[in-house]
Amino acid sequence: MKKPSFYMLLFFLVFCGALAGCAASSTSSSGSDAGSDDVLYQVSTLNALMQGVYDGEITFDQLTKEGDLGIGTFDGLDGEGIVLDGKVYQVRADGKAVQADGSGKTPFAVVTDFEADEQVQLSNINDLSQLQTELDKLLPNPNMFYAFKVEGTFKYVKTRSVPKQNKPYPPLAEVTKTQPTFEFHDVKGTLVGFWCPSFARDVNLPGYHLHFLTADREAGGHLLECSMEEGTVSVDTTTGFHMILPQNEHFAQVDLGHTQEEEIEKVEQ
Ligand SMILES: [Zn+2]
Repeated sequence: MKKPSFYMLLFFLVFCGALAGCAASSTSSSGSDAGSDDVLYQVSTLNALMQGVYDGEITFDQLTKEGDLGIGTFDGLDGEGIVLDGKVYQVRADGKAVQADGSGKTPFAVVTDFEADEQVQLSNINDLSQLQTELDKLLPNPNMFYAFKVEGTFKYVKTRSVPKQNKPYPPLAEVTKTQPTFEFHDVKGTLVGFWCPSFARDVNLPGYHLHFLTADREAGGHLLECSMEEGTVSVDTTTGFHMILPQNEHFAQVDLGHTQEEEIEKVEQ
């Protein structure tokens, strides 16, 4: 919220630099006032992932240097990823979570160094739509990026994962047609993820994108639905944006000139 024009400029500089193949290799510093931790660090673009650019680009050891909370996927689209407290959890197609190897690579991920700017308690949330309405109240600026952590007791959670793909990689919408889904009842766990502004639609998902991990860290996935008895919501305003683009052939060949709105709907629900 401080000096938005500066951060927009930073966003475009990093974005344009990355497009030109000269992305800054150092951790971007977002200046003196907001602190360098308020940077959303993203690997690749959602459009590229949707078009099947599934080859891992950045190792999880590298990724977790850039942020301790976030979401993503794995080389070959081998499951849904949750980064929590600096550890990476991989929810494979059987719904079970394992801690991922730091040398593994991600084709798409978003992380930030999470420091809560605000915390609120919620109770009796009947569904995901109501949860989002409550989270909306914590977003004063629709042109900003926000990171979320929701630690709660859930009456119900529904997630999905995706099975590892072989080359030639099919588009994400093909994969999610037969996505395995999982249901949890009376479970403690954590939702992690982001809210992205509408202008980010060419590189990420506008609105909410949340993943779930059970408190025992043994299961989870990409969140499809939930109802929450009670929980603590922490939100971190993220004023900087740093994007790393894949250097592989496949990324060089896909057409990223238009946002696939309908396809996004299909793959996120
Ligand atoms: Zn997801």
